[in-house]
Amino acid sequence: MSREKKNSLQLAYSRGSEKLERAGVPAPRIDAWYLLEYVTGIGRAAYYAYPDREMDDAQWKEYERCIDTRCRRVPLQHITGEQEFMGLCFHVNGDVLIPRQDTEILVETALDVLKSEKKPCSIGDQSVRLLDMCTGSGCILLSVLHYYEGKTEGTGSDISARALKVARKNADSLGIEADFVESDLFENISGKFFMILSNPPYIRSGEISQLQEEVRLYDPMEALDGKEDGLYFYRRIIEDSIHYLEKGGYLIFEIGCDQAEDVSGLMKEQGFEDIDVKKDLAGLDRVVYGRYY
Ligand code: GLN
Repeated sequence: MSREKKNSLQLAYSRGSEKLERAGVPAPRIDAWYLLEYVTGIGRAAYYAYPDREMDDAQWKEYERCIDTRCRRVPLQHITGEQEFMGLCFHVNGDVLIPRQDTEILVETALDVLKSEKKPCSIGDQSVRLLDMCTGSGCILLSVLHYYEGKTEGTGSDISARALKVARKNADSLGIEADFVESDLFENISGKFFMILSNPPYIRSGEISQLQEEVRLYDPMEALDGKEDGLYFYRRIIEDSIHYLEKGGYLIFEIGCDQAEDVSGLMKEQGFEDIDVKKDLAGLDRVVYGRYY
C-alpha cells in the first residue's frame, strides 16, 4: 500500500489549499501552488513527477508560515515580494500599490503615442521627457522606459518617500535610469514634459469599505483614496499639468471604469484637445488621454 510520506510536497499542498479555502481566500488552490513553488522552487511539472518528494523541515515550516500569512488575506505579492507587470518583475511591499494588469493599458497607450510621434520634440534627437506622477512602485514609468526605443529622460514622482525607495530599487534591478522625486503632485517638479502619465488614487472614499480585503487592508490607503467623488487628484493634476507640458504634449491617465466622462470633461474644460478613451481587456473604460497645445 502506498503511504503518503511525512512532509511530502503533496501533503503540504493539500493541507495548504484546504487551509486557504477555509479562510475564504478567493483562489485557494492557485495560491497554494504559488506559495509551494515560492518556498521550494519546484514547479508544477516537477511536482507531478515526484509528488511524494519530502520537504526539509525548514521548507515545511516556511510553507506553513506563508499559508498562515495568506489566510490573514495578506496579498500573495506581499509574501513573495514581487509582481510581474508588462513582462517585467517588480519588487513590491506594503508601501506601494501592487501593479494591476489593467494598468498595462496605460503603458501600451503611452507606447503607441510615443511610437506614432516620429519627432516628438522640435529639436533634432533631443530626448523625450516623461513624468510619471504618483509613480508608486515605478511600474508605469519603468515599463515605458524599458520598451520605448527612443531617447528618453524619465522622472517618477510620489508624495511617499517609502514608495520612492521601492521605485528606485526597481529601477536598479531592471537596470533602467530614471529620476525619482518626492513631491506632493507638482510641488517639486520643474521643467516641461512631452508626456505626463498618472494612475492617481481614484476610489471614492465611500466605496473603500467595499474593496476586497487584500486591497483595503494591505494596499496603501493614500494610493487608493480619491476623496469624496474620486476625482480630486484628476482635478489637481489636470489644472497644473498645463504648466508642465510642452506644446502638443500628452496627459495620460488611468481611470476608474465609470470616470471616463468626468475626466474627459475636466480635460476639455482645461483646454485639452484630441481627447480619447481606451478600454481594458474586460471592455471597461480604463485610460483617458489628450493633448495640450
Ligand atoms: N485599480 C485600483 C483598484 O482596483 C485602484 C488604483 C487607484 O486608485 N489608482 O483598487
